[in-house]
Amino acid sequence: MFWVQVVFNIPVDRAFTYTVEEEVPFGTRVVAPFHGRNLNGYVVGTEPPKEEEASIQLKPLHRVLDKEPLFDREYLMLARWIADRYYSSLGEALAAMLPGGKKETEVPLFEDAGEEVSVTPPALSSEQDLAVKEILSREEGMYYLFGITGSGKTEVFLRVAEATLQEGRGVIYLVPEIALTGQVVQAIRERFGSKAAVLHSRLTPGQRLTEWRRVLRGEAPLAVGARSAVFAPHPRLGLIILDEEHEGSYKSGSSPRYHARQVAMKRCSLSKARLVMGSATPSVEAYYLMQKGEIRGIRLTRRLSGGKLPDIEIVDLKGTEGVFSRRLQEEILHTHREGRQTILFLNRRGFSYSFHCNTCGYEMKCRRCSVSLTFHKQKNRMVCHYCGFSTRPMDLCPSCGSLDVGYYGSGTEKIEEEARKLFPEIKLARLDTDAVERKGTLERILKEFREGKIDLLLGTQMVAKGLNFPGVRLVGIVLADTGLHMPDFRAAERTFSLIVQVSGRAGRFAPDGKVIVQTYMPEHEAVKYAARMAMDEFYTKELGQRAELRFPPFSRLFRLVCRGRSEDVVRGVAEDLSAKLERELRGRAEVLGPAECPIGVIAGNHRYQIILRTKTFLPVHGVLKNQLSRNKLPRGVYLEVDVDPVSLL
Ligand code: ADP
Ligand code: ZN
Ligand code: ZN
Repeated sequence: MFWVQVVFNIPVDRAFTYTVEEEVPFGTRVVAPFHGRNLNGYVVGTEPPKEEEASIQLKPLHRVLDKEPLFDREYLMLARWIADRYYSSLGEALAAMLPGGKKETEVPLFEDAGEEVSVTPPALSSEQDLAVKEILSREEGMYYLFGITGSGKTEVFLRVAEATLQEGRGVIYLVPEIALTGQVVQAIRERFGSKAAVLHSRLTPGQRLTEWRRVLRGEAPLAVGARSAVFAPHPRLGLIILDEEHEGSYKSGSSPRYHARQVAMKRCSLSKARLVMGSATPSVEAYYLMQKGEIRGIRLTRRLSGGKLPDIEIVDLKGTEGVFSRRLQEEILHTHREGRQTILFLNRRGFSYSFHCNTCGYEMKCRRCSVSLTFHKQKNRMVCHYCGFSTRPMDLCPSCGSLDVGYYGSGTEKIEEEARKLFPEIKLARLDTDAVERKGTLERILKEFREGKIDLLLGTQMVAKGLNFPGVRLVGIVLADTGLHMPDFRAAERTFSLIVQVSGRAGRFAPDGKVIVQTYMPEHEAVKYAARMAMDEFYTKELGQRAELRFPPFSRLFRLVCRGRSEDVVRGVAEDLSAKLERELRGRAEVLGPAECPIGVIAGNHRYQIILRTKTFLPVHGVLKNQLSRNKLPRGVYLEVDVDPVSLL
């Protein structure tokens, strides 16, 4: 008779012992009976039962899913760290880290997988060369490539990766979700062929498992992927690359709410590996670490494909009719006459985002969420972007019956419609999650744009990041203010970063790139500094404000969100928890709230938040851990804990 200790993907932080006829190795996935159901779990121990379990009738395992383990004891330490740091159970941590597939796929992921295509890498510029030498001068350490858009950060990453592989050590190359379809993965596959494993969310579970095992066996020493690829199981990790470090998608939105940057730092220090991050717009936190010398900052200041940084012009929208200012129209036409291309960016899907009554002030909101519904003209529906609820549009006010109603604000659909009217001779396409619902559409549009069959590409985030098109002269930011009204201390940082990044798509291969930034707030610092590409000025100013308001990086935050159907119960729970924390923290952290979240209701759940702000992370983390383990929530109330939250909505 043998025994195994199993943890499950449930918010209960303990292991359960089961019996097995034959030995089951540590680190395999199993199915085991649990409260009348069969649950998938992970073997985290193979010891005989402890005393307190010896008296119970132990149940046998139901099934063993893997012949070979998926992780070892060292890897379990990382999982324990994740669970502890982010207040999840060990089982939840492992579920976030490991692939879910049951059977490896036989077909290779890429038909052309195999030998590397022989590409001759470009000769490095002197800045790139210095960067590579500096990073390779030590076996470990943290570096940051702070380089303008188009300064060749990718090539530095690739060279450092190559050198690390030659040392016989493994590489993890992280890219934000959005860029995955893009050019980086392409370049890696060309350069490293079958040595590269690709881990991303669009793989089937079986494909993920296959790629995982290739990494584990050392067959694919380089793993590229989005956030969760930071958990790739390299036998000897030597380097983690974190491209576009500032991206919000590196933070997980569900438990454990980890940040890939923090996990990468932890893994690199455990494995004595190098960490190389990069961006044209570092997060304020990363900039601060560079300033303090805790991360070695390396600057890249020149564009390498013959381009220059574009000229950025701010256009004040006050008094303009419609969404296209005269200046933007002129530049679009001018660009088109020269046979060159334009990208238009707007951070909002749909046609218009609010239905408003001018008589009584009624605004159409989601019945289940406290946010305005967005009008989608093609589907002819009012849609909630938080829960997916949709309803028929109306032409009179449901509250007072007035006909004086209208749609306000513009989304990408409306920009498209107006652009088609204004520029009938220009071939244009829209890229946003609605437009690319059908598989293959995204790839097709990008290909056509690259080949010059499309003159003007307009869309959301999808057109903003990572695209490198030689033909693009003009970038238009249709409305730069969309994020500035958010009640979030990172609003300015996000807006600044977005303007710089989107602008970076212009003029990558030509000296006369042009950007038009339309805004109702031309005086706002985020807009002004971005337009002047005044990087250090922006960060200095922003750091000053953060210091004054005691926000990160000058403090650490914990966010607790209580949610449930009954507002009274939820508020009560939050008030009670807040009072307890106040008592136990005894001044080691400020307890802010409870207050209703800025988005007070999502999908019928009322939301209240408490924010802890502190300078002493670990003691406060401990107090909170204690409190959470003792705190019993009433039925139907849930508590989300977010360590170092990136969103406070
Ligand atoms: P970033 O990631 O810094 O925005 P990229 O890595 O996309 O910049 O590089 C911008 C362009 O410069 C790409 O077209 C790339 O092929 C080119 N490039 C990079 N390094 C060199 C080099 N050493 N010589 C010539 N072109 C280069
Ligand atoms: Zn009305
Ligand atoms: Zn909703």
